[in-house]
Amino acid sequence: MHILLTNDDGIYHPGLSALAYQLRSIGELTVLAPDHNWSASGHVKTLHRPLRVWEADLADGTKALTTDGAPSDCVALALLGLVQPSPELVVSGINPHANLGHDVTYSGTVTAAMEAAIAGVTGIAISLDTPEHHEGPVDYTPAAVIACRLARQITQLPLPKGVLLNINVPYLPLDSIRGVAITRQGLRVYRDALVRREDPRGRPYYWIGGEAPSGVADHGTDIGALAEGFVSITPLQLDLTAIPEIPLLEGWGLGLD
Ligand code: MN
Repeated sequence: MHILLTNDDGIYHPGLSALAYQLRSIGELTVLAPDHNWSASGHVKTLHRPLRVWEADLADGTKALTTDGAPSDCVALALLGLVQPSPELVVSGINPHANLGHDVTYSGTVTAAMEAAIAGVTGIAISLDTPEHHEGPVDYTPAAVIACRLARQITQLPLPKGVLLNINVPYLPLDSIRGVAITRQGLRVYRDALVRREDPRGRPYYWIGGEAPSGVADHGTDIGALAEGFVSITPLQLDLTAIPEIPLLEGWGLGLD
């Protein structure tokens, strides 16, 4: 099995190298990841400038590829023929923070897996729920081991085309994690605040600041599963149609008059 690994935090991020190390045990691995941090960049397709790709060495000395494109560009480049043989599995991560609820539309980690789903290839996003005020190095090993075990199983199972998996791992030692929960997206609570400052020439600029998002830990949701000590697996699809609302809008009788 040929696996493509990418991320949105950049080629030298420790979450990527921890996952690369584990994934080599289940297949042939190609790493193609952005040359800088694209976190919260959403789903990108770079069409108006060239994309450059060059070789890079990961921290453990293994060869990788990097590009000035976005995470979803990495997947498109690889699946359009840059990487041979064409990857059968795309793994994105490990992101240092959870991607929960509405985060999935902002997340470069998740949108890389979306790009795989568009191409008809199994895509898995892996994020670690590192506590907000964690200090010192982050231990990615438990999440990397879990991601690898799940990837091995998922590739043997009939995941429907167009479905990607958003996996979030609690920040716990491997033997303290209670299991796997299949979940739906929970409700994120964003606490963004607009910060207005002035540059040295007296002109205003704006920065979206504020606290990190919190969430409603309902049972059955991604947020709830992490709070209960489970690995959360949320199946996602790109059809965002609000199907239950179609009759409502049809009933409005909207017209061109
Ligand atoms: Mn990130």
